[in-house]
Amino acid sequence: MHTTIVALATPPGAGGIAVVRLSGSDSYAVAEQVFRPINPEKKVREAKGYTAMFGHFVQDGVVLDEVVALFFRGPRSYTGEDVVELSCHGGMVIAQTLISACIKAGAQPAAPGEYTQRAVLNGRMTLTQAEGVMDLISAAGRQGAALAQSALNGSLAKTIQGHRQKLLELAGHLAAWVDFPEEDVPQLEQSNLLQVLNEVRQGMTALVDGYGAGAVLRQGVDVAIVGSPNVGKSTLLNWLAGFERAIVTPIAGTTRDVVEQAVMLADIRMNLFDTAGIRQTDDVVEAEGIRRSHSKMEQAGLVLAMFDTSRPLTDEDRELAKLCGNYRAIALLNKADLQPVWDKQELEAHFGAVVEISAATEQGKQDLEQAVRQVLGVDKLDYSLPCLVSQRQLAAAVSAQQALEQAIQAQRDGFGLDAVSVCLDDALEALYQLSGEQASEQVIEEVFSKFCVGK
Ligand code: GDP
Repeated sequence: MHTTIVALATPPGAGGIAVVRLSGSDSYAVAEQVFRPINPEKKVREAKGYTAMFGHFVQDGVVLDEVVALFFRGPRSYTGEDVVELSCHGGMVIAQTLISACIKAGAQPAAPGEYTQRAVLNGRMTLTQAEGVMDLISAAGRQGAALAQSALNGSLAKTIQGHRQKLLELAGHLAAWVDFPEEDVPQLEQSNLLQVLNEVRQGMTALVDGYGAGAVLRQGVDVAIVGSPNVGKSTLLNWLAGFERAIVTPIAGTTRDVVEQAVMLADIRMNLFDTAGIRQTDDVVEAEGIRRSHSKMEQAGLVLAMFDTSRPLTDEDRELAKLCGNYRAIALLNKADLQPVWDKQELEAHFGAVVEISAATEQGKQDLEQAVRQVLGVDKLDYSLPCLVSQRQLAAAVSAQQALEQAIQAQRDGFGLDAVSVCLDDALEALYQLSGEQASEQVIEEVFSKFCVGK
């Protein structure tokens, strides 16, 4: 941790500005060697925190670019260390040359997520907040970003802390009662014990239940468009994409492979997969496409199953509807612009929602958006509540939830307070893991290995 690190903080590639960030005790000394203030009176070493200087990136006496330097003095910086941010003109050559110059002047290249890791190690943020940072950077939609922000601002950490405090009080009381029976420790009220256990369990359940919908908002969802040939799958994809992405022809079996297209629908990033029509076939190529359609349905977070209301339902349509009962699926009754020959009640039992649309005349988008939000559970999400932002957090929250359920069960079944106390300790340990306060070095490394360099 005593090294001074350097990396590009902005995305690589052409852009207006590129920011090269230094962090560590030698940041100012390194910056002084590559950056020369325009005003010769000003000295980099003496720069106060939260100030800026205009100057040049100079190498071997040659001016290579104009630079604005921003100074932060530890501990009041992102990492808690001395930080200097050098903003040069965008484009890879200058930024990379500046980074090389900083390395020559004594800095080391930063590892992925090393800035945020240092912030955690220096007590500037908790591990859950760090995970929020990562999620915010990669959030796919506006609402997803809002959710990640709630992890970042520490509300998740505070919620966990609140739950933990309640359990700690209980555990302390129980331990005293179990270990020192002769000491006249007042016995816990059974109703009070159950109430606290239930409260915390409900808190955990809310976090666990909100994870899936939150992840959909932040990261998006894979969506498989399935249906018999010619129901309008490619037309739907083109409509949602806003341009001709898939080939549309009246000949059945035109889409022989899985076509991928990312679109925003209901403020959710959707990776659409237009699959080959699902039907029995002897054509080897098409059969392979159909096999992939099935596997895409299994992998997808949402299935859009299309049906053509202008022609009678076939056995294959009914088979597909039945299959959809196993997935989170929406039935799209397409070609609503034509005279329908069957009623939507026929399919309702198998789907989370049934929506009438016309992909060709672009009708029914609002209904589709509403159905998507409902089926993905996004409409029930309370943005003011904290949410879990990683699989690691989810696993710890599930462990806590299970341990609390066992504690409640042990109490109900009359197993005695020793048993409750053991389960309570398990729940507490899971909560410590969730907040990251007792995360092993391995877990911390794992979290930061997913970060990008420069963050
Ligand atoms: P896919 O095989 O399921 O991908 O179906 P396509 O998207 O290729 O569409 C098959 C045919 O149905 C094409 O001729 C489309 O123009 C037509 N079609 C698609 N959607 C609609 C719709 O909403 N209304 C009408 N009238 N025709 C449609």
